[in-house]
Amino acid sequence: MEQDFAQLAAQYTAAGLSMYLSLQAPWLGDGLTPGEICRFTPHLTSPSEADRHTCSICISAILASEWARTLDCGHTFHLQCLDPWLTRQDMCPNCKRSMRSSALEQPLLPPAES
Ligand SMILES: [Zn+2]
Ligand SMILES: [Zn+2]
Repeated sequence: MEQDFAQLAAQYTAAGLSMYLSLQAPWLGDGLTPGEICRFTPHLTSPSEADRHTCSICISAILASEWARTLDCGHTFHLQCLDPWLTRQDMCPNCKRSMRSSALEQPLLPPAES
C-alpha cells in the first residue's frame, strides 16, 4: 500500500503535489485516499477548456495551462484546490455527488444465506 502510493505519487507532474499530499498525513478518514484521488487524472487545461470552468473551491476561473482534475460528474477544479478538498470530503464541491469508487459500482448484495 505504501509502495502503491509512492508509485501513484510519481505519476504527478504538477510540482510539489505529491509532497503536499504526503503532508496531509495522518489521513482524516472522511475523504478519499490518494489512490482514489489519482483516479481523476490531472491534466493541463487547454485554452478552449479554460474559459468554460470556474473552480468553485477558490471561486476563480481556471485559466489555460493550469493543472486541473475533472471528476466523474464532469465538474473541473484546480488540482491544488481539489486534492486537499477530497482528502477531507468524498464528494464533488459542486454537485455533492460521492466520488468514492465504491459508490460508483454499487454491487448488488447477494441474498443472505442464513
Ligand atoms: Zn481553485
Ligand atoms: Zn460535480
